[in-house]
Amino acid sequence: MNTKALQGQVALVTGASSGIGKAIAIAFAEAGAKVGVNYRSSAEDAEQIVSGIREKGGEAVALQANVAKEDQVQRLFSELIETYGTIDILVNNAGLQKDANFIDMSLEDWQLVIDVNLTGQFLCAREAAKEFIRRGVVEERSCAAGKIICISSVHEKIPWATHANYAASKGGINMLMRTIAQELAPHKIRVNSIAPGAIKTPINRQDWENEEAKAELLNLIPYQRIGKPEDVARMAVWLASDDSDYVVGETLFIDGGMMLYPGFAEG
Ligand code: NAD
Repeated sequence: MNTKALQGQVALVTGASSGIGKAIAIAFAEAGAKVGVNYRSSAEDAEQIVSGIREKGGEAVALQANVAKEDQVQRLFSELIETYGTIDILVNNAGLQKDANFIDMSLEDWQLVIDVNLTGQFLCAREAAKEFIRRGVVEERSCAAGKIICISSVHEKIPWATHANYAASKGGINMLMRTIAQELAPHKIRVNSIAPGAIKTPINRQDWENEEAKAELLNLIPYQRIGKPEDVARMAVWLASDDSDYVVGETLFIDGGMMLYPGFAEG
């Protein structure tokens, strides 16, 4: 693959101050993109990522916004476009978990997860699509008018006890992604999802920080290793680049085989 596959393009990565979003922001900058590093509250972490990118000769800016709030998302896009002139790639990555037994799940925790994980993706995708359609294709940068990558999860397919809000939000992303992919494709906008399995980040610390939990998690992964944020970042660079130009409305699973029903491996 072209190592500067995103040269001159402007990307926004939401929830980019940690984990998968951080790795995608860094990989995009290495691939030549100017990157908006969105964060909700960790300004220091976001600024550190931006400094790291700039030290390596890349371009990035830290941008605060809660993706669940319409006015903040609109401000986020205005600030990005004011800084870099436009946007070519959106990575809808921000997400969280609020786990509980179903009968104990509060409406507040249900709503928070839906608001951030699903409504946040809707709000950001809508702003990005408006700018892609307004501007159209700029052939020197990309043969598409814009790319939207939704970070979903294997739990858009695999039910997950005690995570009803999270699994519902990711299932929702699947139909949101496919529906807007269908609607926006005639405008030369490509919308796709990446659905990770278990990736070592702060969101699932309890699953890898002690040996017992880690062993239990590995039972679910035929490839026998926990994923790294960089595994997902490499896929995101490809999916944002013209190398994947004919990929439209797809969910790409990246999970070490978690979707292969490992519980049935013994026949
Ligand atoms: P993470 O906790 O490191 O990253 C999530 C980021 O989203 C954080 O930086 C957080 O501050 C940010 N965020 C939360 N609420 C926000 C809001 N309202 N506005 C803006 N930012 C907000 O965990 P991660 O694993 O890197 O998660 C990134 C994405 O990957 C999430 O959508 C998550 O559901 C998805 N995912 C992760 C895994 C995994 O195993 N780690 C698996 C499947 C899917």
